[in-house]
Amino acid sequence: MTSLELDGKVSLVTGASRGLGKAHALKLSSLGSKVAVNYVDIEGESNQADANRVVEAIVGQGGEAIAVEADVRDVEAVKAMVGEVVERWGKIDILVNNAGITRDNLLLRMSEEAWDDVIDTNLKGAYLCTKFVLRSMMKQKWGRIINIASISGVMGTAGQGNYSASKGGLIAFTKSIAREMGSLNITVNAIAPGFITTDMTDKLPAERKEAILSLISLQRFGQPEDVAELVAFLASDRADYITGQVIGIDGGI
Ligand code: NAP
Repeated sequence: MTSLELDGKVSLVTGASRGLGKAHALKLSSLGSKVAVNYVDIEGESNQADANRVVEAIVGQGGEAIAVEADVRDVEAVKAMVGEVVERWGKIDILVNNAGITRDNLLLRMSEEAWDDVIDTNLKGAYLCTKFVLRSMMKQKWGRIINIASISGVMGTAGQGNYSASKGGLIAFTKSIAREMGSLNITVNAIAPGFITTDMTDKLPAERKEAILSLISLQRFGQPEDVAELVAFLASDRADYITGQVIGIDGGI
């Protein structure tokens, strides 16, 4: 049997029940990594069935995966999730901080709750997952942390003050932790996607989508698989000397 690029590796992908996270999970698995597919149970709304379908797809293509529940905003839940993966497979090599939400509004109409929800999920969630996963990476002196930021965190977007702040914060976090972890051979990079077709962008009004499309050099929206390719590259040994970077993937906006 030919060996695959990520054979023997263990990945944890947050928010992997659908959208970009699902594509990252499938891609990492196709390269040989075992994958923990994180999903969340919020207010009785379980996405376990979606996560299970991702696990089944991975197992169906010959890979190994488990679904792990955790709200990334909740320290105890994150600790338990990391513990579960490490107990199962002994380590975590690759963390993709993908879970994220939007609660768009112009600033004067933005509630404190919408601000807190977005910052807690997109920024605090990445802080918690990174903090608890790092122990395993530090022990083995190898690790890959890939943070899914956004073009909004680089350029700012009207109506997304909370989201842009969370993603800008995630980019600064990426650069800081890359400096802290460099001597331990742990790379930390951010990806800044533009407009990718998922549930998150499906809910935007048609006029807004058209306006965004007119700004894209390649004249099409991205697909989750486009971003997953970059995740796979950053997770691999081919990206050994890349850390503290923010890599745009936006069709040329
Ligand atoms: P999506 O389809 O809405 O999926 C978001 C994922 O995050 C879902 O699996 C969701 O779980 C999960 N999630 C939300 N809150 C969570 C929590 N508290 N704990 C754990 N998981 C949670 O969005 P997407 O488009 O795939 O976005 C994925 C990432 O890419 C996000 O960080 C987003 O900001 C970023 N991004 C997306 C685009 C784009 O154009 N789509 C562009 C730039 C950046 P549920 O299924 O339970 O809701």
